[in-house]
Amino acid sequence: VGELDLIRQIRGRLGGPGRGTVVGLGDDAAVFEPPKGLELFTCDAFVEGVHFRRDFSSLQEIGAKCMVANVSDVAAMGGFPTRATVALCIPEAASDREVDELYDGMIEVAARYSFEIVGGDVVSSREGLVISIALLGAAEAGRIVTRSGAVVGDAVLATGSFGASEAGLASLLKGLPRSAAVDAARERHTSPRARLKEAQAIIEVATPHAMIDVSDGLSTDVWHVAEESGVGIRLERDAVPIAPAAQEIGHQIGRDPLELALASGEEFELVAAIPPSELSRTVDHVEAVAGTEVTRIGEVVEAERGCTLVMGDGTEMPLERRGYEHLSGDER
Ligand SMILES: [Mg+2]
Repeated sequence: VGELDLIRQIRGRLGGPGRGTVVGLGDDAAVFEPPKGLELFTCDAFVEGVHFRRDFSSLQEIGAKCMVANVSDVAAMGGFPTRATVALCIPEAASDREVDELYDGMIEVAARYSFEIVGGDVVSSREGLVISIALLGAAEAGRIVTRSGAVVGDAVLATGSFGASEAGLASLLKGLPRSAAVDAARERHTSPRARLKEAQAIIEVATPHAMIDVSDGLSTDVWHVAEESGVGIRLERDAVPIAPAAQEIGHQIGRDPLELALASGEEFELVAAIPPSELSRTVDHVEAVAGTEVTRIGEVVEAERGCTLVMGDGTEMPLERRGYEHLSGDER
């Protein structure tokens, strides 16, 4: 595919510049009016064989997931996405239909979360497909939530449930036969959603001191918040919401469902630390606005206590940083 043809093809699919965009795709650079409040900027790269496999996911799913990972990061900061650029490194043998399929996924995500793809580049790669996306976001001043503000006494909450993404990947690696649980877990692994509505709903009724999206695994990301905030976190074993598909597949493959839930990366659920007095209205509001369950999974304690897992009988054990390398299944 000639580069000019490709750019023409992509441009035709993205339409004209949106609100606030002066020059969109097709020129040397995009031009737009800056937002009134604060601007956010993040990027994520997905590499074939490291972050995705073509035999596990369609190109549409791969494009969408890379975009969702970026949206999730902006959401976890309290912002909403505004504009993205996309760099594709595609194997020389790739067809224009394959590029089209990647864009199908990315365009679908841009439409779902209401932002614009304003530019990009397509270059050829010697080996494998690489997608690199840069995403801009906006937020009102004072609504930004970092990882570093959790204080002792905060309630730790989580959206949704955990373990299905890792269970889905494990089912693909092991070639498990299809079942309702396997289909649900694979769907979760290949087509995750970003918790943008949920993040905004949390900010509407609460003053979260810290927030993060779970991309490395619940245990690892809880540690990230604790370390950045200079606190400890007690995670209650029986309170961690484990996805039903992870329960079932965990038993099937001989892995503890709780361990799956703690290790599973790319969940894109939110974990936040909020004043305990704001907990019940946060749970109610997120459920009402987004239909997503919010669970109190633990509390913020003094730094000296570190991050621990509290058993049903009150005994505590150190919270291991569990997380799995993408695709390999090897423990980090
Ligand atoms: Mg993140």
